[in-house]
Amino acid sequence: MDLGIKGKRALVCAASKGLGRGCAEALAAAGVDLVINSRTEAEITQTAHEIAETYGVSVTPVAADITTAEGRAKVLDAVQQADILVTNAGGPPPGDWQDWSRDDFIKAIDANMLSAVALMQALVPGMMDRGWGRVVNITSQSVKSPIAVLGLSNTARAGLTGFVAGMSRQVAGKGVCVNNLLPGIHDTDRATGLDAGVAKSKGITPSEARMQREATIPTGTYGRADDFGATCAFLCSQQARFIVGQNILLDGGALNATL
Ligand code: NAP
Repeated sequence: MDLGIKGKRALVCAASKGLGRGCAEALAAAGVDLVINSRTEAEITQTAHEIAETYGVSVTPVAADITTAEGRAKVLDAVQQADILVTNAGGPPPGDWQDWSRDDFIKAIDANMLSAVALMQALVPGMMDRGWGRVVNITSQSVKSPIAVLGLSNTARAGLTGFVAGMSRQVAGKGVCVNNLLPGIHDTDRATGLDAGVAKSKGITPSEARMQREATIPTGTYGRADDFGATCAFLCSQQARFIVGQNILLDGGALNATL
């Protein structure tokens, strides 16, 4: 399927690996030129090289912490203007609701809510001026179904979801579609880390923790970053012009709900 976005320019954040990389690769496969970001210089440079080689598009790596104002300034300086924005950052650590301090909440809100808001504020006005744009925010299934140990994530991402619900309707008339993608468990380093935490707390092996989690998912598997990326690329396509302010859950049916 031709997504109709060949030659467009995208910023994909937190993309040296995992879900961000899945999105970057799917956009590159559709002919989109990229600026990609993560903190570790060697890894983001290597990923940029691999994507450029594989798909024949231009890929500019920027090593920066996207959750800081300085990091975002460095990334935005490299981007200048973008047709497509994919926001992403590492997720907050697990813990107990009684232990989190104000500083813990501020850090999570900075990383998983306000960074995305700041990037949209920087890049969406240009998209509106040019009459076309797509934004995909990588959030989490925790927006629809809270994960108790990830209360910091539940909180910060719910804030971003509320912001997008209003803002997406204000910019759609200028050809800009803003939506959120909600990953359930996907086979990335983040999932490996979460399984290790569960294994430790339950006194089981990481592979037992994974098998137990897989048993809760109707597909019986973890999701894949390339499938996640393909959904992201579709939301960035011409054909997605009527999808506005939605929260698309990719969880293998794990959330047991009618709507
Ligand atoms: P991952 O495999 O650990 O990859 C994280 C990527 O983000 C890496 O490229 C990492 O590179 C980069 N990164 C992390 N913090 C960053 C920062 N402050 N600034 C710039 N880049 C940063 O994680 P993932 O599984 O793809 O998860 C992506 C997001 O989806 C996270 O917010 C996660 O909580 C959420 N999520 C994931 C799942 C899942 O099952 N995988 C489920 C629900 C939600 P550097 O470390 O070099 O910066």
